[in-house]
Amino acid sequence: MTEHDIFIGGKWCRASGSAELEVIDSFTEQPMARYRLGSAEDAAAAVDSAKAALAGWSSTPLDERIAFIRKIAANLLARADVLTEMISREVGMPRKLASRIQVGAPVAAWNLYADLAAELEWESRISHSLVVKVPVGVVACITPWNYPLHQITGKVVPALLAGCTVVLKPSEIAPSSAFVMARAIEESGLPPGVFNMVHGTGPDVGEALVSHPDVDMVSFTGSTRAGRRVAALAGGDIKRVALELGGKSAALVLPSADLNAAVKATLAGCFLNSGQTCSAPTRLLLPSSRLADAELVIAELVDGYKMGNPAEGTTRLGPLVSSSQRQRVSGLIDAALKAGARRVTDPATLPESGFFVPPTVLTDVTPGMEIAREEVFGPVLVLLPYDTVDEAIEIANGTDYGLAGAVWAGTVGEALSVARRLRAGQVDINGAPFNPAAPFGGFKKSGIGRENGHHGIEEFLELVSIQLPSAYFESREA
Ligand code: NAD
Repeated sequence: MTEHDIFIGGKWCRASGSAELEVIDSFTEQPMARYRLGSAEDAAAAVDSAKAALAGWSSTPLDERIAFIRKIAANLLARADVLTEMISREVGMPRKLASRIQVGAPVAAWNLYADLAAELEWESRISHSLVVKVPVGVVACITPWNYPLHQITGKVVPALLAGCTVVLKPSEIAPSSAFVMARAIEESGLPPGVFNMVHGTGPDVGEALVSHPDVDMVSFTGSTRAGRRVAALAGGDIKRVALELGGKSAALVLPSADLNAAVKATLAGCFLNSGQTCSAPTRLLLPSSRLADAELVIAELVDGYKMGNPAEGTTRLGPLVSSSQRQRVSGLIDAALKAGARRVTDPATLPESGFFVPPTVLTDVTPGMEIAREEVFGPVLVLLPYDTVDEAIEIANGTDYGLAGAVWAGTVGEALSVARRLRAGQVDINGAPFNPAAPFGGFKKSGIGRENGHHGIEEFLELVSIQLPSAYFESREA
């Protein structure tokens, strides 16, 4: 346990509450760390500190703000090994993958955001108006456990670059990387109060931040359930809210597609991080005539997802984050089987410890079944046959979510015409990779707003239109 467990005004201090929370290693099922929980009082102190620092930070020249971000990125890189180990143990992602996806990618994103802030159009002219972008103010950032450093990065970095000051409440289930990151920030010499962090639970610290009158914006990533509560609380004060919530994304395979490539990539995307990925393709939509072929390919490929200790190089599938998550996922699979679904492969033998759920692909599923509509957050793929492309698009768009999607076709043109009809914020064609500079976010109950790239920075900016006498522009143009 850390002695100094919240970071406020540039100093580590003791959380005012006495309660502690253990962080559990997802493979050994044993406690790996323990942190004291902050309280609503701590949240209020952190907001005061962020408010006091706002005037100074928002008027700090952009190149100085960018220099701090680059310095922190370097400090994070120096801690890459410890970050990888902590996140891999907390979340369960195999260490080799975690090093690249959970640590390498977010650290690169710190520098990418810095590049993009330098290129952003901070002022523009519309006729006789000067339109300037100014920071929204004090921002509360609330993040989940599945990609802990990535999600913190997607909020804290653009907010700081925009000139906002920040209070972060990381996930209490996987908070260790946030503590390491706060040390990296402290070491950079960032002015006191610009970044603050209070560890604690959602109902205590999270709700205190969301309801605080001096918080100007809440940037939240997590479940749709908690997002609804956050939006309701923030609505009372008409606070700006950005919500990145759940998903039930579809991979739509058109009759002309390379079936093997589509199935292989969909399984990899669905099973990444043991299915604990908001944008995972968890529904595979196939022409009815190709369902049987797909099942054969899948049965062979699923065997290759070796479960085991995330620290071992040969492990492809780690455990889920917690015992309650394992229970929830297993319950959803059992309910689907009772409702008429069938496993494409027999469940593999589970390792002796760890919150494992075997890689599971279900067929004989209909679009109305719970397993085809609800976010599972485990290594579970459902196969859904269709007869016409219009029907496939209707199924793809037919859930409460709209975060991501994929289209597979013989030609990009054909895929693109279907992609344009999907109600989802990110659509990949024929396996094209994730782009960290492109906007990321959802339709419907997947959220409000966009993260990543310059859109992610703009999320933390307000627009001010300043009308000027036309003589002002004429004198500048002369
Ligand atoms: P969660 O909603 O349980 O918790 C997320 C964060 O919100 C945590 O920090 C938690 O303490 C806090 N919180 C919980 N209740 C709160 C409340 N009433 N008020 C304020 N804060 C509250 O989600 P989780 O289990 O940590 O994460 C998994 C969920 O996150 C999944 O649904 C997943 O799809 C979603 N997610 C979405 C994205 C995206 O970009 N759209 C990315 C990652 C995860």
